[in-house]
Amino acid sequence: MQDTSEKNMLRILVSDLPTVTYKRAVALRDLGITTVADLIKHLPMRYETHHGNMTIQDANTMLGEKDKMAELVTIEATLVKIKPGWRRGKRSRVEGTAEDETGTIHINWFNQPWIAKSLHPDMKIRLHGSLSRHNETLQMNNPRWEEVEENEQVELVNRDLRPVYPSNDRISSTVIARLIESVLDKAILEIEDHLPESLRQELAMPELAKAYALSHRPKTEEDAKSGKRRISFDELFLLQLGVMVKRHQRRDTMHAPILRWDNEVKSRIAARIPFTLTEAQDRVIEEIACDISTTTPMNRLLQGDVGSGKTVVALHAMLMAVTSNYQAAMMAPTELLAEQHYLTISQLLQDTNVKTALLTSSLNTKERKTLIEQISSGEIDIVVGTHALLTEDVVFSNIALTITDEQHRFGVHQRATLRNKSDDDFAIPHTLVMTATPIPRTLSLTIFGDLDVSTINEMPPGRSPITTKLVQPEDAQKVYAYLQSLVELGQQGYVVVPLVEESASGLKSVTGHANTLREGHLLGSIVEVVHGRMTSAQREETMQGFRDGNIDVLVATTVIEVGVDVPNATMIVIEHADRFGLAQLHQLRGRVGRGSKPGVCALIASPMTEDASQRLAAIVDTTDGFVIAERDLEIRGPGELFGAKQSGIAPFTVARLPRDFKLLRLARSVASDWVQRDPTISESPLLKARLFRAHGQALGLGDVA
Ligand code: ADP
Ligand code: MG
Repeated sequence: MQDTSEKNMLRILVSDLPTVTYKRAVALRDLGITTVADLIKHLPMRYETHHGNMTIQDANTMLGEKDKMAELVTIEATLVKIKPGWRRGKRSRVEGTAEDETGTIHINWFNQPWIAKSLHPDMKIRLHGSLSRHNETLQMNNPRWEEVEENEQVELVNRDLRPVYPSNDRISSTVIARLIESVLDKAILEIEDHLPESLRQELAMPELAKAYALSHRPKTEEDAKSGKRRISFDELFLLQLGVMVKRHQRRDTMHAPILRWDNEVKSRIAARIPFTLTEAQDRVIEEIACDISTTTPMNRLLQGDVGSGKTVVALHAMLMAVTSNYQAAMMAPTELLAEQHYLTISQLLQDTNVKTALLTSSLNTKERKTLIEQISSGEIDIVVGTHALLTEDVVFSNIALTITDEQHRFGVHQRATLRNKSDDDFAIPHTLVMTATPIPRTLSLTIFGDLDVSTINEMPPGRSPITTKLVQPEDAQKVYAYLQSLVELGQQGYVVVPLVEESASGLKSVTGHANTLREGHLLGSIVEVVHGRMTSAQREETMQGFRDGNIDVLVATTVIEVGVDVPNATMIVIEHADRFGLAQLHQLRGRVGRGSKPGVCALIASPMTEDASQRLAAIVDTTDGFVIAERDLEIRGPGELFGAKQSGIAPFTVARLPRDFKLLRLARSVASDWVQRDPTISESPLLKARLFRAHGQALGLGDVA
C-alpha cells in the first residue's frame, strides 16, 4: 500500500487506496477507472436529495407530517425476518422486516428473487429509498441496500444533494462516492487548468479543479450544473479545437489543382445530361465549382436525400477535372454501388473522349494490373471503384479530385487520400464526400466540423409519394397478395430479408424466402435473388434482367439499399424490419417512388424492443430524410452515430447531443477564434498537450506536434 499523502495523487492506482480490495479494483476497472484521476473524472449521473440517516421513528414522523410518497431516506436497521415468495400469476416478491431501537419497517423487493439469497436475519443493513405507508405500517419498496460492515470508517457527510454514480453489480454508487470523498480534497489540488483565466471569466466558467469539486460535492443544484457545464464544455471544446487545427493545416499548408469552370465547360457538360438540373443541383454545383477553381483544397460534404440526384453533381466536378487535364476518382462503399455508378457515368459519357474505368476487387490479377498501369500513365480519366482504390499499388498520374459516396455510412470517414506520382508533399486532391442520409446539424458541427456542407434540398420532378405501412407477420400474406396484384399490372417489387442463407436464427433468408414465395404467395411471378455472395457478373446479370423488366420481384439482402434505380419498381417489402437501422430502412424505402407511379413500403415486423418500435414509428411517420436523421440521433445517441470505432474519435462522456447543442456552438466559436489567433496552440502548452492526447491521432494532427 502506498502513502496517499505524497504528491501525484492523481496518478495513484485506485487499487493502492486503503479501502480498495482486489474485487473492488476489478469492478472499478470495468467502469474504466484505474487511477485516482479516472476516479475524479467519474462524474455523477444524477443527484438525490437526501435526508441523511434517520431512525425509523423519525422517518415515521416525517412521513406523517409531509404526507408525501417520495421522501428519500437512509435507515440502518437489523433484519428480523426475510420471506422469499413467488405468488402465482403475480410479480415475485421478497418481503423483509427490519428493526432499530425506535421501531419496525416493512420492506418489499419486487421482481428481484435473488435478493433473498443475500439476506439473512440478524444482518445489519443500510436501506436507501423512498418511504410509504401501508395499513399503518411504514414501508419501503425496492430500496437499495447494502450490508453495514463492522466498524465502518468513512462516514458520508450529510448533505442535501447526494451524487449517484454510474456503477455495476460489484461496486455500488455509495462505495464509489465514499472513495471519491476520501481522495477529492487532495486530488483537486493537483488539477491544472488549461484554459486561461481571462477566457474562463469571459465564459463565466469555474476553474477546472473547482468544477470537479462542484460536481462531486455540490451544495445546490446550481453548483452541480456549473461544474458539469465546465467539464462538458472542455470535452466539446477539445474536439472543436482539433477539428479547427486540422482544417487550418489543410487549408494553409496544402494545395490542390485549379480546375476550369466557365460557360464553355458548363454547356459542354449540359449537353451530356438528358434532363434539366434542379435549382438545388445548380446551386451545389456552383458551390463545388467555386471551391475547386482555387488552390485551397476543397473538403466538402454533399448531402441530399435518396434520389435527389447527387450523381450528376459529382459528374460535373469530375468533368471539370478532366477538362483541365487531370484525373478524378469516385469511391463507393459496395461493389454493387460502384458498378451502378460506373454504368451511369459511362452511359452519360458515351461517344466522348473521356476514358472511364471500374476498379473493384472482382478484377482478376491480370485485368487489375493492366488497369493500374493505365491509371498511373494517365490513360484513364475517371476511375470508379470501391475502397480497393486505396491500396498501395494504385498510383494516379495526376489526380485532382476524389469523391467518396458514403451513402448513409457516415462516420466511416475516409481519411486516406488517393496517391499521385508527383513528389510534391503538399499537393493533395480536392475531396467531396456524398451522403444520402443528411447528417444532423449537431453532428455536422462535431466530427464533420472540418467539412463545408452543400445540401440538395429538392427532388427532381416526377417523383411519386410513398406510403409506408407496418404489418404484423401474421398478415404478411395480404402484403404479398398486394405485391402480386401490382406485378399483374406490370409493375415490379423488392423483398428484403436479413440473411443470405438459412440459419438457426429463424430469420428469413434470400434463397429460402425466394423459394417460399415462388411456390406460394407469388406463384406465377418471376422471382430472382441478389445478394453479396454472388459474383459481380451474376449480380449484374440479375440486375440487368430486373432493369429490363424480365424479373418481377427481386428478393435481396441490403445490397440493394443504395444506388439501385428502377423506376418501374413500385413496392418494397422489408421482412424482419425491426432488425434494420433507421437510416438503412430509409435507404431501402428510397428504392421505390422513383417513377410516375406511387410507391408502397411494407415493413413486416413485431418489434420486441423499445428502440425498434421507435425506429419503425419514425419511418412510418415521415419520408423526410432530415427528420429521420434527427430521430436516429435521438434514438441511438451520438456515440453510435459517430461511428466511433471507424473514426477513432472517442464519443463524449459528459456532454450529450443534441442536449448540449448551445454549448457546442459556444465551444466551436471559441475554438475558431483561438485557431485564427494562434493556429499552433502555443499560447497554452497544457491545452496543446491535452488536445493531442485526446484527438491527435484520430484527427491526424501529428505534423504540428
Ligand atoms: P442520389 O442522390 O440518390 O445518388 P441519383 O443521382 O442516383 O440520386 O439520381 C436518382 C435518379 O434521378 C437518377 O435516375 C437520375 O438520373 C435522376 N435525376 C437526377 N437529377 C435529375 C433531374 N434534375 N431531373 C430528372 N431526373 C434527375
Ligand atoms: Mg447515389
